[in-house]
Amino acid sequence: MIVIGAGPAGAAAAIQAARGGASVRVFDKAPYGRDKVCGDGLTPRAVAALNELKIDMSDAHRIAGLRMIANKTVRELPWPSGTKFPNHGAVWPRRRLDASLIDAAGEAGAEVIWETEALPEIDDGRVVGVNAGGTKHTADMVVVATGAPGAVGRMLGAERVADEPFGLAIRTYAASPRHASEHLEACLTLKDENGVPVPGYGWMFPAGDGTVNIGVGALSTMKGFKKLNLNNLLESYRGLVQDDWELGPNLERPRAWRLPMSSQKRHGDGWVAIGDAAGLVNPMNGEGIDYGLESGMVASDLFLENPATAPERYDVEVGERFDAFLRTGRRFSFLIGHPWILRSGLRLAVGTEAIANITLQVMGNLVDSETPGVSGMVFRTTDRALGLADPILRRTRATA
Ligand SMILES: Cc1cc2nc3c(=O)[nH]c(=O)nc-3n(C[C@H](O)[C@H](O)[C@H](O)COP(=O)(O)OP(=O)(O)OC[C@H]3O[C@@H](n4cnc5c(N)ncnc54)[C@H](O)[C@@H]3O)c2cc1C
Repeated sequence: MIVIGAGPAGAAAAIQAARGGASVRVFDKAPYGRDKVCGDGLTPRAVAALNELKIDMSDAHRIAGLRMIANKTVRELPWPSGTKFPNHGAVWPRRRLDASLIDAAGEAGAEVIWETEALPEIDDGRVVGVNAGGTKHTADMVVVATGAPGAVGRMLGAERVADEPFGLAIRTYAASPRHASEHLEACLTLKDENGVPVPGYGWMFPAGDGTVNIGVGALSTMKGFKKLNLNNLLESYRGLVQDDWELGPNLERPRAWRLPMSSQKRHGDGWVAIGDAAGLVNPMNGEGIDYGLESGMVASDLFLENPATAPERYDVEVGERFDAFLRTGRRFSFLIGHPWILRSGLRLAVGTEAIANITLQVMGNLVDSETPGVSGMVFRTTDRALGLADPILRRTRATA
């Protein structure tokens, strides 16, 4: 098996396949130790995936819950307990998280080749391997783990669906005496320079190493999205949290990147796409690490069973696991693109502690399918209602 991309998705696929006895080669165009622009936040679902991969998390900063802020309302919520997921999350700066994952792939026997761009070799419509640095390598299956769609996605037709929402987010680091706080903090009431509410949030993610990850993210469903200046949005958010967190200056230049939330295709003859390359990002919170880890493991498990049937079966299995949730999240993002819906929705979502807890569980995709409870009911009802409203949502989108 050949994996293109050594981020969390590619590393998870490589670990799982190599541990299962497959011969695995991973290419990444970046050097070892690359730093992906990210908030570094891991929900309990992501911790569960890392546990499944047997990754030692002692280097990560443990997180007990989420502090949700909407105007003057502040709710400190523990992660849900009594589900199949652990009751803690983590913040793990990507440089270190990604190194731990790819080191585990190497220890499992995968060969990792850095600073080498790989592009699929296509023969009669089938992906038969890759061309990496001018050399051809054949494989029974190529796993595309290249992050937000670029050259490889274009070659395979695995690009974002033009009509579907996506996100943009920016982050930097700063020193703070509250770096060891045990809560992620999310401010849900961001406004742009014209005072228009932004569907998205500002975050303070304490890394436990003297620093916090500070960032903002926004959905493409808002009016004026193309003109939204993320640097200014981050600056104004920094102004809001500066005193509370006693923030030092930015430790690096803020960097922004895309959050793909759809894909025209995620498999074909001889290949599968996983993680961001397959558009697997939660539209309700911008989380993608977990989806990368889970889709990587699914792809490799199916490859180990039968490389010939793996791409088709992968598409079905990933669809069953994620499609309903991600589709609902995308419809929801059309809805909150309207400022008045966003405002009243937020009032409801954080209105009482009980509802805020449900919001956290639903938006974090932490509903346990075996014991869905009230959150599962809320999700099913929302899913049905938004499904019926889909044509209207698209016709009346704020950006229409
Ligand atoms: C500002 C921001 C904040 C975010 N915060 C969070 C968060 O807090 N929690 C969370 O879960 N998610 C977050 N995300 C999303 C998360 O970063 C991604 O979902 C995650 O990195 C996806 O992992 P991946 O392995 O699919 O892709 P990536 O991590 O992007 O890795 C792709 C790799 O492929 C390599 N590559 C690409 N093309 C080629 C090629 N042709 N040949 C060789 N190598 C190639 C790249 O060099 C790269 O190393 C955030 C995103 C942004 C932009």
